[in-house]
Amino acid sequence: MDLVEFQGKQLFARNDVPVPAEGTVCRTVEEIAEAAEQHLAGGVGAVVIKAQVKTGGRGKAGGVKLVTSVAEAREHGESILGLDIKGHVVQVVYVEPASDIAEEYYLSVMHDRVNKGHLVICSKEGGVDIEEVNRTNPDAVVKRTLTPNETVGGLPPDVAREIVTAAKLPPEVLDSATALLVQLFAAYRAEDATLAEINPLIRRPDDTVIALDAKVSLDGNAAFRHDGYDEWQIDGIDADDPLEAEAKAKGIQYVKLDGSVGVLGNGAGLVMATLDVVAQNGGVAANFLDVGGGASADEMSASLALVLGDPQVKSVFINIFGGITRGEEVAAGVIEATKRLGDFPQKLVVRLDGTNAEEGRRMLEEAALPNVLAAATMQEAAATAVRLAAEAA
Ligand code: GDP
Ligand code: MN
Repeated sequence: MDLVEFQGKQLFARNDVPVPAEGTVCRTVEEIAEAAEQHLAGGVGAVVIKAQVKTGGRGKAGGVKLVTSVAEAREHGESILGLDIKGHVVQVVYVEPASDIAEEYYLSVMHDRVNKGHLVICSKEGGVDIEEVNRTNPDAVVKRTLTPNETVGGLPPDVAREIVTAAKLPPEVLDSATALLVQLFAAYRAEDATLAEINPLIRRPDDTVIALDAKVSLDGNAAFRHDGYDEWQIDGIDADDPLEAEAKAKGIQYVKLDGSVGVLGNGAGLVMATLDVVAQNGGVAANFLDVGGGASADEMSASLALVLGDPQVKSVFINIFGGITRGEEVAAGVIEATKRLGDFPQKLVVRLDGTNAEEGRRMLEEAALPNVLAAATMQEAAATAVRLAAEAA
């Protein structure tokens, strides 16, 4: 689950990661004007109005504005509310006392799946796209992988100091940056985050550093330890992905991906292999969906409806290896599901193997459904599904 900036800052604050003075969450221009007035009356020279959407690059898109008067706050509030930032329409705005910036750095902690540990990234070049910095000036980006063993008691302060020093942060901020990084790691650990990113981490004129922005992703698998993350659900901010939310409600293992070939298989391992074989055939999978052991008409219908509900899906590859689930049950499930779903434009390519696969294929052929094709091998099915998706695009 991804948090928006002000939620990330709340999470930081309760874990002693320093952030700017608390701002106000607003949903209307009136609320924005009122909040700006209050903060300005409180003696701050400027307030910053920030779009709260689950995407980066808000500044560039006009979603972050510094203002020094209520009139300006109103004017920018009007332009930011309803603004479309990479497909996210702004409904919530955060009005925060502005910070004075001496320098902007970058700092993050994230899961490092490849190395089975945690990755800390720090750079003196912050406030800009860190991937761009990594391409153009890789020496300016320090990356350090930490094993779980190294961090049993938290991130050791000497390691934190090593990282911020290697990133060439100026000597006068090293104490403050070391302390912040130790707390950032503690926050990431305590809250079961998979990512805690600060861009920019700023140096204030008094040489202390604070998180001016916050991007936090929480691990869905740890939701049970945090009351299902209910505290982070708020009006006006979309759940992660509407299809993923629907799948979760129905108990279906589904992850939305970016491609055009819908994928449905039984068993996580087989589904992973299916994504690979789609890629090998030049296609891109639209999703990961594991129907699990069952391939009954109910399960098939619910799963297929979900996959077909994604407007990016141009063809569907159903890949089933029969074990306890027998081929004829799967075929019956597919036939019944397509009947229940009625008309849909996409073609389904079904590959059946394992127990009673031949009988299943024969049933599919006899049913002669106009949008269902049976394939004997995974390779053949993948090639067909990729071709059909390309033709339908
Ligand atoms: P992003 O564009 O979505 O990453 O949004 P950020 O929160 O990182 O803000 C973008 C940029 O706006 C920052 O890099 C700063 O340069 C500027 N900015 C944001 N908040 C403040 C503030 O309180 N004071 C000042 N002076 N600039 C700010
Ligand atoms: Mn940022």
